[in-house]
Amino acid sequence: MKAKVDKDLCIGCTLCVQTCPEVFIMDVEKADVKVDIVPKEVENSCRQAADECPVNAIIINN
Ligand code: SF4
Repeated sequence: MKAKVDKDLCIGCTLCVQTCPEVFIMDVEKADVKVDIVPKEVENSCRQAADECPVNAIIINN
């Protein structure tokens, strides 16, 4: 599974970083993904972060 942040949409709320710090990191005012492949053990929290993103900026690829 892979995750990506659409930086044009991200409003920098930091919610994804709080929900899944293993995958998301803040890059100045936008979120970024710090892993190439999402580790199995954090797939659920990564999906949760995507679901909860207020602007649907997180794209998940299985
Ligand atoms: S939850 Fe969405 S809007 Fe908020 S920082 Fe993460 S990607 Fe950006």
